[in-house]
Amino acid sequence: MNALDAEFERLEKQHQPFPQRAKQVYECKKCKDSGWILRVDERGCSHSKRCDCWAKREAKRFMENSEISTEFQNKGFKNYETKGNKQLEHAKKKAIEYFQQFQEIEHTRRNSIMFCGQVGSGKTHLGTAICSNLMNLNIPVVYMAYRNTITRLKQKIVDEKEYDKDISQYIKARVLYIDDLLKGKITESDINIMYEIVNYRYMNNLPIILSTEKSLEELLSFDEAIGSRILEMCRGNIVILQGRELNYRLSS
Ligand SMILES: [Zn+2]
Repeated sequence: MNALDAEFERLEKQHQPFPQRAKQVYECKKCKDSGWILRVDERGCSHSKRCDCWAKREAKRFMENSEISTEFQNKGFKNYETKGNKQLEHAKKKAIEYFQQFQEIEHTRRNSIMFCGQVGSGKTHLGTAICSNLMNLNIPVVYMAYRNTITRLKQKIVDEKEYDKDISQYIKARVLYIDDLLKGKITESDINIMYEIVNYRYMNNLPIILSTEKSLEELLSFDEAIGSRILEMCRGNIVILQGRELNYRLSS
């Protein structure tokens, strides 16, 4: 051993090896949290597909972006209690059937569902349950809190580029969930914005899941063009929850 080697050996013994970098912790080891899995086929071409964890991530993002209270966030069909009430039983049945038929009807004219009813009737619970079940099938849903979204879009109207970018997520989403449609005071520009969203989705057979406190008559009287398109898209799937005994939250 020459002097130099001996010196290295001495230094090595003297110093602890470099501490190992802390191993990166991934929530999903399969895709290292990228959401994509790469596969190379026999011809050497690479393909990417969504990782199984993706739907779960989307569901989480949906809930985080939504203003749905944590009360509803983990609720599915199972824990929607009907307590023997016929209206609630019917509503639950319609929601489950809609979900089960979704992939068959997705690209048809009647591909949407609407829950009309008073506060506390469980509309949000059923709407949210459909959304989370769809996301479990890797079908992404975009959440639109009606009043807040309209207010934000109106503020952007002066900047055409910003406005288009913002509104296009609701226009073009594969599935759009509109929570509390027509809540609050409606102005002419609210109607224009809603028409832009609803008409595009109507023309392109893109489904909408809706909840509203308005009645069908009110919906039509606000704006017939919007109301009639929504009703046509939801035909067969209009769930009405009315009546004092339906205060779902108070009675549960
Ligand atoms: Zn993954």
